[in-house]
Amino acid sequence: MKLKLREVIQAISGTVVPARVSDESIYGISTDSRKIGQGELFIPLVGEQYDGHDYIINVIQKGAVASLWNRSKSIPEGITIPLILVEDTLKALQELARYYRNKVNPKVVGVTGSNGKTTTKDLIASVLSTHYRVHKTKGNYNNHIGVPLTLLNMPEDTEVAVIEMGMNNRGEIEILTQIAYPDLAVITNIGESHLEFLKTRENIAAAKLEITKGLKENGILILNGDEPLLRTAMEKLDSSYHVIWVGSETGNDRFPIEIRQNLNDVQFRHSSGEEYSLPLLGVHNVINGLMAIEVGIQLGVPLSKIKEGLKHPDLTSMRLEKTITKNGSTLINDAYNASPTSMRASLQILTTFRQYQKRIAILGDMFELGEQAEYYHQEIGQLCASLKLDLLVTTGQLGRLIASSAIEHGMEKRHVYHFENVDEIAPFINQHSDPDSIILVKASRGMHLERVVQQLLS
Ligand code: ATP
Ligand code: MG
Repeated sequence: MKLKLREVIQAISGTVVPARVSDESIYGISTDSRKIGQGELFIPLVGEQYDGHDYIINVIQKGAVASLWNRSKSIPEGITIPLILVEDTLKALQELARYYRNKVNPKVVGVTGSNGKTTTKDLIASVLSTHYRVHKTKGNYNNHIGVPLTLLNMPEDTEVAVIEMGMNNRGEIEILTQIAYPDLAVITNIGESHLEFLKTRENIAAAKLEITKGLKENGILILNGDEPLLRTAMEKLDSSYHVIWVGSETGNDRFPIEIRQNLNDVQFRHSSGEEYSLPLLGVHNVINGLMAIEVGIQLGVPLSKIKEGLKHPDLTSMRLEKTITKNGSTLINDAYNASPTSMRASLQILTTFRQYQKRIAILGDMFELGEQAEYYHQEIGQLCASLKLDLLVTTGQLGRLIASSAIEHGMEKRHVYHFENVDEIAPFINQHSDPDSIILVKASRGMHLERVVQQLLS
């Protein structure tokens, strides 16, 4: 990126000390004093544990050209670069991102939802990259800091930006969408994540629909049509948007007709009659894929290129990744995160592979479910029993409820094990699995089941 210092000062209505600055160019923006490079602008943010302002001398030594500065903070000795004084450095970061977004002026695709944002964002970017210069959110940089930094990192010749937007609470997506101003917005689904803060699924749906508060007039809104709450909410929303419902059932504008899950990909026929294939697992990924196809179609990507893009997506790791363990069993690594919706989806996938003799699930706590946490864990236990898993291994306090509920609902006791210590799981699994086994690993990230995965692989 390239911005002039004067342009930055104007964009964020800052005042600068010393008052007269030369018209220097800025070659990048950084909020991290450890990673800042020559010629970049430093934006010190204040967190609970740290204050970026404390590192100003450090970033000057590293070659920063200028820095933002919270007006209320005293300025230390030895400052040799211009400081741009603002009320709030975070707000200024967001303001600057908004300015830069409008300056580069790409088409922007905003992606939100409870599950599948990163996957869908990556699929959309893969489809669009066959035809456009695309910039996308790296990894999971989807919050009030990640979204502005993603935009500010976009090359000047970007034609389409695909921006993931995450949230924990009401009002957060509204802020993000009013920085990114999407031309197209996608809501992948409504789940139960964040029930702890938002209380009801209606509130979660409303929070995701905040994305429309920055959606361009006559913009395109691609919604999960399997979610009745979105349908109800849209009836109340008086809008000029072009709404496209994508889902698994025939009542949607776009849906899959025939789905064939293979070992390494899923093939499906689109309601338009076209055939597609995706190197991913599960029906929910078909829906994510349909959303990516739709974005491609709406932005004029030729069908042959859309198909190509879907076949070779550049995905972010630990989301339903399939690998082979040391002892030859097949492992589905879904340790990145978990919510009831995604847990159910992944368990369903596990049972679609009929070619394996033994289906094993290693499950742990799902966080942030509030008062209904116990209920949801018991429900997952019941599902494990009804799917007739061959082996269920759990860990964590809530994970224990999955185990007990599975037994309560008819799973044989000798097929259910609980470990408090995560490190005991891999040796146990190694003993109880072979090349005819398929193993799912899934829990909220804080349970660190990626350790089990590493131990099974190495
Ligand atoms: P985060 O809130 O952490 O950013 P995310 O919304 O970006 O999550 P992904 O990282 O794409 O979601 O996927 C997380 C997990 O959710 C995947 O491993 C998969 O099991 C599941 N998942 C993906 N898409 C869907 C979907 N459409 N419906 C239900 N579950 C899904
Ligand atoms: Mg994500």
